[in-house]
Amino acid sequence: MIHEVLPVGMLQCNCSIFGDEKTGEAIVIDPGDNIDQIVAVLNKHALEVKAIIITHAHIDHIGGAAKLKALTGAPVHMNANDQVLYDHLDEQAAWLRMETPTKTTIDTQAKDGDTFHLADCDMHVLHTPGHTQGSLCIWIPCEKKLIAGDTLFRGSVGRTDLPGGNHRQLLSSISTQLFPLPDETVVYPGHGETTTIGREKEQNPFLW
Ligand SMILES: [Zn+2]
Repeated sequence: MIHEVLPVGMLQCNCSIFGDEKTGEAIVIDPGDNIDQIVAVLNKHALEVKAIIITHAHIDHIGGAAKLKALTGAPVHMNANDQVLYDHLDEQAAWLRMETPTKTTIDTQAKDGDTFHLADCDMHVLHTPGHTQGSLCIWIPCEKKLIAGDTLFRGSVGRTDLPGGNHRQLLSSISTQLFPLPDETVVYPGHGETTTIGREKEQNPFLW
């Protein structure tokens, strides 16, 4: 499976591009910005996007979704609990003193237990509220990878001081949804370096 991680936008959100070499199908997670660069990666591998998945509706993760959807025709999947944040994209843009990006309609309400298929792999949707109420992680067992959004970071956890945030709920999501995954699972946080479930269980000071 092709997997390229592209830090995009002012806040360097890690956008993941997964592709199937055989079928040419792709899934893009968190196209926050820099859609031209994302499209260049897709073109390099001759990939066609079949789904756009949003881990949560913060502008740095969802800002480019409308543009990528317009270019590819791929549906946008997001948890319904984050619709209220997406409805206030203009306020999010104002906090960051940036222009409000074009918005789109969410095509599918992704929820816990949903599964996407790519390159003979299942990609499982885990609902992990806390950073936002609609926060999702994507667990890909055949690659031993977790796309963690802003729920879990290397040595840290997602901030919970923004609207919809809840620290206790975040810790509970991590302990019930993420820590049961195999220790060797490579975690791709929404920002910064990768880590593993095992490393965070042992070393993450927020989770002792
Ligand atoms: Zn966020």
